[in-house]
Amino acid sequence: MAEQSAMYEIVNATIEGGQLTIAWGDGHHSSYYPLWLRHQCECNLCGTPIDAVRGIRLLDIPPNIEPELRDRNDVWIESP
Ligand SMILES: [Zn+2]
Repeated sequence: MAEQSAMYEIVNATIEGGQLTIAWGDGHHSSYYPLWLRHQCECNLCGTPIDAVRGIRLLDIPPNIEPELRDRNDVWIESP
């Protein structure tokens, strides 16, 4: 299934207009707001919705956070 794996291949990642934009291997593009990305963190501190233990609240995230692209597979979002 080479076609399906291309769907998940990141061809390019850029920061455009404050959003992370991903170009996928199948030609699609996706844009993500940094606030949404930050809220998706599932580290030990932020928790995961799988066990319903979340240490992060959407309203605790500063609305003006910005993503930083270190390379196409490493996006850093600074947040207190
Ligand atoms: Zn986290």
